[in-house]
Amino acid sequence: MAARRGDVTVPQLSRTAPAPAPGVVHLGVGAFHRAHQAVYTDRAMAATGDPRWGIAEVAPRSADVVAALRRQDGLFTVLERSGDRVTADVVGSVAEAWHAPSDWAAVAARFADPAVTVVTLTITEKGYLADPVTGALLDDDAVRADVAAVAAGERPRTGLGLLVAGLRGRVAAGAGPVTVLSCDNLVGNGARLARLVGEFADRLPGSSGRELAASARFPSSMVDRIVPATTPADRADAARLTGFADDAVVAAEPFTQWVIEDDFAGERPPWDLAGAELVADVGPHETAKLRVLNAAHSMIAYLGALAGHETIAAAVADPAIRPAVEALHRDVLATIDAPPGWDLPDYAASVLQRFANPALGHRCDQVAADGSQKLPVRVLPTILAARAAGRPSGAATLVVAAWLRFILAGRSDDGRPLTVTDPARDALRAVLPSDVARVLRTAAVVPDELAADDAWVADVARYLDELARHGAAATAAALA
Ligand code: NAD
Repeated sequence: MAARRGDVTVPQLSRTAPAPAPGVVHLGVGAFHRAHQAVYTDRAMAATGDPRWGIAEVAPRSADVVAALRRQDGLFTVLERSGDRVTADVVGSVAEAWHAPSDWAAVAARFADPAVTVVTLTITEKGYLADPVTGALLDDDAVRADVAAVAAGERPRTGLGLLVAGLRGRVAAGAGPVTVLSCDNLVGNGARLARLVGEFADRLPGSSGRELAASARFPSSMVDRIVPATTPADRADAARLTGFADDAVVAAEPFTQWVIEDDFAGERPPWDLAGAELVADVGPHETAKLRVLNAAHSMIAYLGALAGHETIAAAVADPAIRPAVEALHRDVLATIDAPPGWDLPDYAASVLQRFANPALGHRCDQVAADGSQKLPVRVLPTILAARAAGRPSGAATLVVAAWLRFILAGRSDDGRPLTVTDPARDALRAVLPSDVARVLRTAAVVPDELAADDAWVADVARYLDELARHGAAATAAALA
């Protein structure tokens, strides 16, 4: 097979050996999954020579990535970028790819396949359809429509609906125990997902959420690798380095980490042989990663976008912004315990070093997307813990104000329009920004105890005002 690239015809990736047999179903075929779980699975199969752990990819929405993977026999390239250095690896763990809206019968059959013993997910934080404060399943039109679809035996539309319908089909087929492993950035992602699956199933007539949730194990996992959205330069580099056209290429940093709670219902891919850590409790790892790495990422994204930086690397190199991030890390490190074997100050420093990798080109507006889903797990716990301990948390509070400023202004301080993606965007913009208490309540992001804390709300209002009057760089510099 060949593909046109401008005036040139280049060959397309294709297999010379059989694809692995599907043993894992994955929901959400995004860039992160391809550069993370798919790579671990590829290496695990290579380490043992056991080809039973191929991935059946299920895209809940996008047909493009499915079409690309099919054209390429499931093969795709992972570029590793560090400074000027770029290397390319072709990953072969994808056994097949399905577009759920067009191929639901095939997806349901894979869920009910006894050879499949693990289901993994990267459907983004908002894909869990959970209330960001309470963690309960939403009761909105999308959920109601999907509950009705699953009840009627029709194709679900949401990632959660696909999972519930797939698990019900598996129980009905008696296909044996299965493990559902969330790989999204949520605290206690396993327990959260089990709860949401249970609450979804409870809304189905004659169905017991408890029974469905009990039919599977839901271990938690902590995932880490910076994987920006793919760019045309990535496609060009992949073609140059491998000689093949690749429409499913992803580019990532060299660092990669996966800590998994060792609680599987049956067999699993030997991910430990590929560098994953299997532990009894992922909690401390998740907490440290979300509050040190992800919180800093959000702060850099909002301040950076407002200050006119396109990328995270440019923003973290800004001498006005970096000290504010270090101040955030001081807020965080005063409120968490180190996971076994971790040195938290070293970890915080290494995170900033990784963000500074200019080769990644991670865009501020990509990291800034969906703050209403991300801040409750990344930033608010630090503020709540500091309050409980009677400690200040000015830097963490500035992140909340910068997020609001990013949404409400929709422009950088030098007037350039910003891409603002957030489920709370329109509701927030409908409220007068001067009424910060109401803005915070409208977003339904901040827990009641915090929204009712007049002193804290006044701090947010003050930062919001400073951001508007002096700009992000000056406000950040004044903080440090
Ligand atoms: P992406 O935009 O490349 O892919 C997102 C995937 O989720 C797509 O397959 C999309 O179809 C699906 N999706 C999006 N919204 C959905 C919804 N409402 N319901 C169901 N599916 C939905 O993003 P990505 O970079 O692959 O990141 C996906 C997730 O992986 C993140 O949200 C995060 O939880 C986790 N993660 C990403 C990174 C990273 O650096 N990119 C790092 C750690 C963790």
